[in-house]
Amino acid sequence: MRAGFPDFRLGSVLATSFTGTLSERHGNAVERIPTPHRLIDWLAVNGLAVDSCTTAQLDLARELRESIHAAATAAAIQDALPASAVQVINDCSTQGRAAAILTPEGKRRWRLSSASCVEDALSVIAADTISIIAGERDGKLALCASPTCQAAFFDTSQSRTRKWCDMNTCGNRQKKARFNANQRKNPRSAE
Ligand SMILES: [Zn+2]
Repeated sequence: MRAGFPDFRLGSVLATSFTGTLSERHGNAVERIPTPHRLIDWLAVNGLAVDSCTTAQLDLARELRESIHAAATAAAIQDALPASAVQVINDCSTQGRAAAILTPEGKRRWRLSSASCVEDALSVIAADTISIIAGERDGKLALCASPTCQAAFFDTSQSRTRKWCDMNTCGNRQKKARFNANQRKNPRSAE
């Protein structure tokens, strides 16, 4: 990992982990892939290693990211999917080439058509997005309850009542805010 850059938020769902590379969209936004190298790092962490990335490829990745965010948000609130976002997701899905590979350990890995092809990696992310929005996977799209975040996330909890995109960040912050508010209301309860 490179020093001096914001950490990645890691999740188990590729598409929403990717949209999580921009956090606090409704507060002080934090860009977690500010340079092409940080996109390379993020892709490597997520099993989509590429050797190089140009500024134009980073721009394309961010365009896909914001399109996923727009489409997933619409899906979460059962709104019509924005046509421009659907177009970008479909373009990214069709422009890249990646093959699913079964490892001897029985795991799925992605093999990209070339080590320099960010577009291949983006096609995998786009396909992951499509499977979630199309309702092919067990879970439900929802929006983070933190007012400064409102990120779309994929709730795979049994009860489908998860409130935050990420327990360690948004979830904890909300809990702390509630605790502090209670302390102010009932200062004696701390004694
Ligand atoms: Zn959140």
